[in-house]
Amino acid sequence: MEGTTTVLAGPHEVEQREYQIPDPVAGGLLIGMIRANVCGSDVHFLGGDHPLVKVGSVLGHEGVGRVERLGAGVTRDFAGNELSEGDRVVATYFQLCRHCPECDAGRGNLCRNALPAGTLDADHPPHFHGTFGTHMAVGPEQYVYKVPDRVSSKAVSTANCALSQAYAGCDLGEIQRGQKVVVLGAGGLGVCATAIASQIGAEVFVAEMAPSRLAKVAEFGAHHTIDLSEADGGAGRVELMRETTGGGADVLIDFTGVPDAFSEGVRSVRPGGIMVSIGSVMPNRFTQFDPGLFTRSGVQIRASIRYHGSVLGKSVSFVESTPQYPWESLVDADFALADVSDALRATVDRKVTRAGIVIDER
Ligand SMILES: [Zn+2]
Ligand SMILES: [Zn+2]
Repeated sequence: MEGTTTVLAGPHEVEQREYQIPDPVAGGLLIGMIRANVCGSDVHFLGGDHPLVKVGSVLGHEGVGRVERLGAGVTRDFAGNELSEGDRVVATYFQLCRHCPECDAGRGNLCRNALPAGTLDADHPPHFHGTFGTHMAVGPEQYVYKVPDRVSSKAVSTANCALSQAYAGCDLGEIQRGQKVVVLGAGGLGVCATAIASQIGAEVFVAEMAPSRLAKVAEFGAHHTIDLSEADGGAGRVELMRETTGGGADVLIDFTGVPDAFSEGVRSVRPGGIMVSIGSVMPNRFTQFDPGLFTRSGVQIRASIRYHGSVLGKSVSFVESTPQYPWESLVDADFALADVSDALRATVDRKVTRAGIVIDER
């Protein structure tokens, strides 16, 4: 039997291809996709400016599926829950090699041989490397977690990228109860980080250049919003963040992907605080940076890329334990699988924040 997957055919061009549905490998799974989402990084993939994504790569890394077949030896998920065919699951979008110095040091998020979904060639078996398709082949080195019955597929569909990236960033920032946390950028990851920091008991400030995005964070536990469009240039934005937080953030997490937001973010942290960089992932984009001022501030800058696989399990539990947050609303428009290119275009044109792709919601 054949299934469909979505492939980058050229810059800003996708096509859907049919391939024979593979058998699950030993220790892995074959899942039937339920839903997928267009994440911010898919936009970079589409433009061809991601260092690992080539024409011919299978697209899609965020989503949720259903176990169609268990590979040999698989009886449980990574948290020890029994796993059967038909169970809903989420999986990390990357596979670790477990044979490199970073994996050996327990820093799987930095695995130098990781195979992230979105970077693998469609013609290379098992073909179904991404979430924008009828199926996805999950390898033995991908962390898999069962989705609890009371969590909807739509609510959990952002867990394996947006929520887990945000979770890892909050962990790296060592956010404590009572701290002043600035979330810079109110896209999907910023909204998720707002909820996490708020649940830890931090005082959460969300700063954003597009004030229309600030309404959403109030629903996810933000205590204050900072409309950066009112500030006068970079110095004004720093001043506004420092003033609103009463001297600077204890922890600031930059989700924007804008190089100047990185340097402004560092200057908006109180002396000795922590700045976490997540949003800037594309190389060869630059910003002015004042090392002398930085050294004098004692601020620590930390880089958060991907996440440790076990963070996905914590994310699923977090969605389950916080029904007060409207998780489903992170996906603000739905498209059919055949219309992936429309979903991508709507995202590029900023007509939707996070486009959902409904594949099989039976
Ligand atoms: Zn993503
Ligand atoms: Zn490795």
